[in-house]
Amino acid sequence: MSGPNTNFDPVEVAALDPETIDAAVTDALTAIASAATLDDLKALRSTHAGDRSPLALANREIGALPPSAKAEAGKRVGQARARVAQAFTTRQGELEAERDERILTEEAVDVTLPTARRPLGRRHPIELMSQRIADLFVGMGWEIAEGPEIEAEWFNFDALNFDADHPARQMQDTFYVDPPEDGLVLRTHTSPVQARTLLERGVPVYVAAIGRVFRTDELDATHMPAFHQVEGLAVDEGITMAHLKGTLDRLAAELFGEGVKTRLRPSFFPFTEPSAEVDLRCFVCGGSDPDCRTCKGTGWIEWGGCGMVNRNVLTACGVDPDRYTGFAFGMGIDRALMFRTGVSDMRDMIEGDVRFAAQFGMEI
Ligand SMILES: [Zn+2]
Repeated sequence: MSGPNTNFDPVEVAALDPETIDAAVTDALTAIASAATLDDLKALRSTHAGDRSPLALANREIGALPPSAKAEAGKRVGQARARVAQAFTTRQGELEAERDERILTEEAVDVTLPTARRPLGRRHPIELMSQRIADLFVGMGWEIAEGPEIEAEWFNFDALNFDADHPARQMQDTFYVDPPEDGLVLRTHTSPVQARTLLERGVPVYVAAIGRVFRTDELDATHMPAFHQVEGLAVDEGITMAHLKGTLDRLAAELFGEGVKTRLRPSFFPFTEPSAEVDLRCFVCGGSDPDCRTCKGTGWIEWGGCGMVNRNVLTACGVDPDRYTGFAFGMGIDRALMFRTGVSDMRDMIEGDVRFAAQFGMEI
C-alpha cells in the first residue's frame, strides 16, 4: 500500500524548486533581452515558453503535489510563466517597432528622383484629324480610298483634264521622279485617287481619300513641301451642287463646330466645271473683328476647292457624262488644324517632336 499524500515532500520535486524556477526565468529573460531580431525571438519561444521548456515541465509537476502544496507552487510557476510571457510580448513589440522604423528608412522613396519610366509616344494631331474626317465619311456611307504617293503623271494631270502645258506641271511646282521621262511624280494633290477610283470601281461611287501630297514649296511658317489633303468624290445619277454644299457643310460642322457657315466663290480647276473656292465663316470673330488674326479681318477663311466633276474627267475614266454627274472637293488638313487649334507655325507639325503632339488630346 502506498502511504498518504501528506507524507509527500514537494522539495523533492526538483523542477518546482524556487531557485530552479528563478533560474529558468532569469535564463529566459536574458535570452529574450538578447534577441536581436524577430526571427531570433521566435526561435527562443520553444526553448523558454514551449511545451518542453523548464517552466512548462514544472507546471506539469504541480498536478502531482498534495493539495496543500499546489497553491503555492501554482502561484510561483504561474507568476514565472507570466513574467516570461510578458517579456516575450514586450520584446516582440520593441523588435517590430525597430523593423518598421528600418523599413521606413530603407525603403523610403525619394519622389524627387528622376523617373526611369519612358514617356509614351503620342498620336500626331494630323493623324487624329484624318481619322476624324474618315469616320465622318464612313458614317455617311462613303468609302475610304487610297492611292500611291508616287503617282503616274497621267493620273495626276492628264486624267484630271490638265492641259499638257498647264503651269502646275512645271518642275517649279511639281516633284518629278528621276528620270523625268518616266512620267512619275510625287502626287501634287489627292485628286488622282478620284480617277483611280472611277476606273477601278465604276459608278455610282462615294469615296473620300485622305493622304499626303507634295509640292515644291519652300518650308516656312505657312508652306510645306509635303502636306495633307482630304479629297471627296461622289458620282451618281442626279448629283447636283446642292449635294456638294450639304456635304461641305457637314464636314465644316464636324471640324469647326455646328452652325459654321460656308460659302462658295466661283473659281477654276481643270477637273471640275463649274468650280468654286469654299470659304468658312470665321469661327473666331464671326466676321465682326477687323483685327482678327484667324481671318485677317475678312470674316472668311479660305478652306479648299470644289466643283462638279468635269465631263472630260468622267469620259477619261469611262463614265457616261450624259447619265452621271458628280462633285469633288479637296482641302488641306494641315491648314484646318492651324485654324482649329491656333498652331501658328506649320514647321511644328513636321518636326516630330512628341512635345508638340502631346498637347493634343486623344480624340474619340
Ligand atoms: Zn475672324
